[in-house]
Amino acid sequence: MKSLGSIRRSFAPWSDPDAKPYIVFENVTKRFGDFTAVNNLSLSIFEREFFALLGASGCGKSTLLRMLAGFDEPTSGRILLDGQDLRGIPPYRRPVNMMFQSYALFPHMTVEANIAFGLKQDGMPKPEIEARVGEMLKLVKLEQFARRKPHQLSGGQRQRVALARSVAKRPKVLLLDEPLGALDKKLREETQFELMDLQQNLGLTFLVVTHDQEEAMTMADRIAILDKGEVMQVATPAEVYEAPSSRFVASFVGNVNMFEGTVAELDAGRARIAGNGMTIHADNVGNATAGSPVAFAIRPEKIKVTSRKPEDGKANVVEGEIYDIAYLGDMTVYHVRLPDGQVVKASSLNASRVADNPLSWNDRAWISFLPDAGVVLTR
Ligand code: ATP
Repeated sequence: MKSLGSIRRSFAPWSDPDAKPYIVFENVTKRFGDFTAVNNLSLSIFEREFFALLGASGCGKSTLLRMLAGFDEPTSGRILLDGQDLRGIPPYRRPVNMMFQSYALFPHMTVEANIAFGLKQDGMPKPEIEARVGEMLKLVKLEQFARRKPHQLSGGQRQRVALARSVAKRPKVLLLDEPLGALDKKLREETQFELMDLQQNLGLTFLVVTHDQEEAMTMADRIAILDKGEVMQVATPAEVYEAPSSRFVASFVGNVNMFEGTVAELDAGRARIAGNGMTIHADNVGNATAGSPVAFAIRPEKIKVTSRKPEDGKANVVEGEIYDIAYLGDMTVYHVRLPDGQVVKASSLNASRVADNPLSWNDRAWISFLPDAGVVLTR
């Protein structure tokens, strides 16, 4: 498999064997009574990294943040920050700040008073507070709203005040629990880019919890996919999408077609997979061995649908029938039923306004994909 980097290509400390991680979860377990919320989890995060914890509700994401912030202690295992074991260190003495799901601002205070609150509590001298608040207002582009109260702001503006408040004390690490959860879709998308800018400009380490995969893919340098308190995969967004390590990760992130079968032959890095009445040739065989049960996972956009049998001798080609067509404006998703009954999703971009592939319901159609267009999964 070719290497897949993050978009910020020059920033990849995780691939430098000499780089020391900044935050380390070392065999961390957290139990509540006899329920295990986090199970022997190990994870390393680097300084200035934008790291996302992604997983379904209840998988232990918030519990990890709370333990790093010091609101909870691990039942066993260690959490290290810059080499220091955090056990026993109270939240206010950790160089970590947390922005909660409901980022409640003080309703009776102005924007600037909200941002200044933590600084005042720390006893910072007044002129310094004024300078810092001014700097924060500029950072989140709310200078002209300094004297407003939270109810006089939009949801997105309130969210930016909360952000300014949580970075005002200049923590080294900012923990964000579903930071954009309260915003509508469009505002969320805009704010994602603002968050990324802010993180880069301040040079902070961000650890974001989200259950929204698109959000994690957009913002993060690396993503940890969690399930039931365990790490399933840690990788860049591109790797998670193009080279998922298991059926779980492949299905959790984006749309995927999964062909189950057995490795009938393995030769020079190429597998012949015998499935239900069809054969697939696949590169990217991972750790599959001859005879092992596997899944060939392939994304819908990597499959072509044509009304005539494709000529390409290298491609996997299967004949089927158009079962459903979903027109989504920017793309069309074809659902093609194969002879064994499996329905495959194939998407194509509508680059021109006029459809050049006039396929219709119940038409015979061919799906085709190259051997390196998907990955072979053993888990
Ligand atoms: P969500 O996306 O819904 O916030 P999450 O991944 O952040 O979910 P956590 O809040 O970390 O999940 O919770 C993980 C599991 O631990 C859940 O099943 C939850 O019910 C349980 N849990 C969390 N806190 C406690 C507690 N104080 N006592 C008992 N169980 C808890």
